[in-house]
Amino acid sequence: MQCDVCGTKTITRVSLVYGPYREFAFACAGCGIEIRLGVNVIAPSEEEIKTWSARYGLPEEAVPPHAEYPKLLNATWIRGGPNDPTWLEEDQSIQNVEILDDEFLVSVPKERKALLFLQAVDQMGLGAKDFQKMDRIRRGTAAEVWPELERLILHHDREQWDLFDKQFQRIFQTAPPEDTDKKSFALDLGLENYGLLFCKDDSGQRTVRDHLERAWQKSPDQMWVLVDYFRSQGRDRAIESQINAIRDEWSKLFSALAALYTTHYWDASKYQLEKFTLAQKRFEDLKGLYVDCFETFCRIAVIAAGVEGIISLGRPIIPKAKGEMTLAEFDVFRNGSKPDVLRRLGPPISDLFVPYMDHKLRNGIGHNSARYDVVSDQVHYVLENERGRKSYQIPYIRFCYKLFELYPQLEVVALYVNWLRRFTEEVE
Ligand SMILES: [Zn+2]
Repeated sequence: MQCDVCGTKTITRVSLVYGPYREFAFACAGCGIEIRLGVNVIAPSEEEIKTWSARYGLPEEAVPPHAEYPKLLNATWIRGGPNDPTWLEEDQSIQNVEILDDEFLVSVPKERKALLFLQAVDQMGLGAKDFQKMDRIRRGTAAEVWPELERLILHHDREQWDLFDKQFQRIFQTAPPEDTDKKSFALDLGLENYGLLFCKDDSGQRTVRDHLERAWQKSPDQMWVLVDYFRSQGRDRAIESQINAIRDEWSKLFSALAALYTTHYWDASKYQLEKFTLAQKRFEDLKGLYVDCFETFCRIAVIAAGVEGIISLGRPIIPKAKGEMTLAEFDVFRNGSKPDVLRRLGPPISDLFVPYMDHKLRNGIGHNSARYDVVSDQVHYVLENERGRKSYQIPYIRFCYKLFELYPQLEVVALYVNWLRRFTEEVE
């Protein structure tokens, strides 16, 4: 491609993995302007696979996917574009190469000829194989299983039980339970397992279950008070639909963050996140997802605090520095101050919430002046208060890592919400 501003030519090498739309960006080597390209990878039809395989005498798995590039900003494809065979001749004379591979982390400064796979083996050792296997599973699940689960939720909520049963069979390859309560339970279990796939382990889920059980043992009556509060004004349904909208966004944007799972495998004392970046640059899409995750996460914290109130004080109330707060008061309490209250609950519950609530970042990127800067590969944002305006920068990968931690944690605390629903339905 050729830069529209200065004419510098660049070769892009894009990894062609199947899945939702992806978007890459880099600074033009000549003038620094942001060049951005969107890619759709299209799976060939069965007929195309057969024809190709017969023509080249190669196995069917070797068929290369098609790519289409619906977006190209500040540059123009040279001649027929990347699918034009004549571009190979250009290859010899073009100096700038951008490796746009989102399977692995990209080292900074970028090594143009780096083989990212070898780098990944170096980082993860034998874990690299496991990473690749899980990467395929996670990407496939986000892209293909989530839309199917979403349909199952729809049939469940509309009580279309015939359709629910068909869809359940289709997803889980097993017959659905007979009665309605058990169907709801099976759906929750499916959603919990879906969420767990993005978590490091199930320790958070075990903590939530344990504390719900303890509160129930302590006082079933007071648990009803908590349930009633969340049933009133459709609060439980509202949080639930927020979580599902977030899951939907996550499934579409997952490939932009997937390479961060490398950090689950590497020795954290040897590698520093800031020495790497991600090939996809999706700040505009990810910032909304971060804000939505944050807001919903804070609302669920109110349930958790109520549960802890029952365990320690015998009532769903929240202790503060002086006196106590009701659920309703804590619900409307400033999100910026919620971590202080939650910290007082002590571990393990405070650990489920407080480390993930970066209120400053949430406010900064929620402001319409927040932007991504391609040259520094940073997110720039401004915070305003009584004392004035202050500018902040955060490396793009660090911002992505915040979301990469927040969403799985939302899946952990979503168990509280599932529990409310289950309770609700037993009443009806
Ligand atoms: Zn340029």
